[in-house]
Amino acid sequence: MSKVRVRYAPSPTGLLHIGNARSALFNYLFARHFGGDFIVRIEDTDTARNVAGGEASQLDNLRWLGLDWNESPDKGGPYGPYRQLERLDIYKKYAEELLEKGYAYKEYRENSSKYAIRFKVPQDVEYSFKDIVRGELKFQSKDVEDWVMMKDNGIPTYNFAVVIDDHLMEITHVLRGEEHITNTPKQIMVYQAFGWQTPEFGHMTIIVNEQKKKLSKRDKNVIQFISEYKAMGYLPEAMFNFISLLGWSPAENQEILSHDDIIKSFDPNRLSKAPAMFDKDKLAYINSKYIKMLSAEKLAESARPFLEKEGIHIPSESWLLLLVGILQDRMTHIGEIVSLYRAFFHDEFHLSDEAYQFLVENNASHILEAFHKHLEQSNFTSESIEPLIKQTGLDTNTKGKTLFMSLRIATTGDMHGPSLPISLALLGRDLVLKRLSETIEKLRGEA
Ligand code: GLU
Repeated sequence: MSKVRVRYAPSPTGLLHIGNARSALFNYLFARHFGGDFIVRIEDTDTARNVAGGEASQLDNLRWLGLDWNESPDKGGPYGPYRQLERLDIYKKYAEELLEKGYAYKEYRENSSKYAIRFKVPQDVEYSFKDIVRGELKFQSKDVEDWVMMKDNGIPTYNFAVVIDDHLMEITHVLRGEEHITNTPKQIMVYQAFGWQTPEFGHMTIIVNEQKKKLSKRDKNVIQFISEYKAMGYLPEAMFNFISLLGWSPAENQEILSHDDIIKSFDPNRLSKAPAMFDKDKLAYINSKYIKMLSAEKLAESARPFLEKEGIHIPSESWLLLLVGILQDRMTHIGEIVSLYRAFFHDEFHLSDEAYQFLVENNASHILEAFHKHLEQSNFTSESIEPLIKQTGLDTNTKGKTLFMSLRIATTGDMHGPSLPISLALLGRDLVLKRLSETIEKLRGEA
């Protein structure tokens, strides 16, 4: 087999969508697994749909996901240029060759010397190819009408340009979305007209939402652009892992795989024919797994901008490390730090009936008073708070749930939660003492 060369060929018509990202990723995996080249080519011939910044969004987000490539418009390479609009002379030359050889004809515009070029579809030919995903596929030429390959403005259509480029760029395998299956016979016709060898084709299954409907960019229930996940604090490694499972699965069926594991175990024979479901819970689960694997320092660094953006005051780096430490296991994405922080600190301090009842039944006011007295002397590090809890127990002859839950309720408002000394250190002196006093007052009022 000649050296594997695959490409991702986006049209720069918008932001990087989850479906595009999947196409890019599978081509990348294919190239890296087989030691081949991965090329990014920009298919910008649909000029009306191109958007400013579309190309940059594609490349930046792919880079963020952890992909790299051998050739591209920004990197260059021996087969450039890599933007189709910069290759118009090349398409013109090949279109003329097809005209000369009678495989195509001109179609003049009314009262004009301008013309489009149509490919003349041969009669009674069967086009078949062995799709990497779907096996043998067959098409009849009678079902395809003569199609425009060059528009009258000199710009080629997708089906023509893609063949010229894939051939000249020595692409060996074309992995792309299922929506391109019906384009494939048109492309094979062009290969045959030139006497060129076709690459192998593989058409990846569609991605569906949880209602089994094809994911549409307008579907508001599913976040679909990579930049949005990035902004919410999804980790690129987790996204890479999740996307790799959209229509592919490793032989051992494990769900959490590193970048290199995925490259190693990638097997095009395991690309699925069945639609891939975009399972939000699975994404959240995978992302939470990756968040758990982060060091506290790394998590703190990633969480900081989310807190700062909300105007949440971060007194010190050590405070932030404590905070992310207790919330790490609860986050499905890092942006969630904000709501978790708020739930934890909930500015208005309100005790549920159940929590308040617990204090009453356990006659907690003397415990709270003792604790308040000790805490006043404390410097409020978690290490210094820990023995004060013990001391409070000794002073009041309480222990276990009565001691711990009473203190927790009166300071955090919650009946359960992360480590109490750490929680109190995070809440800080003013808030903790204020809450304790308020609760003591309330219980006194009751008595
Ligand atoms: N520009 C096409 C698209 O974005 C590429 C299709 C192909 O890979 O041939 O769908």
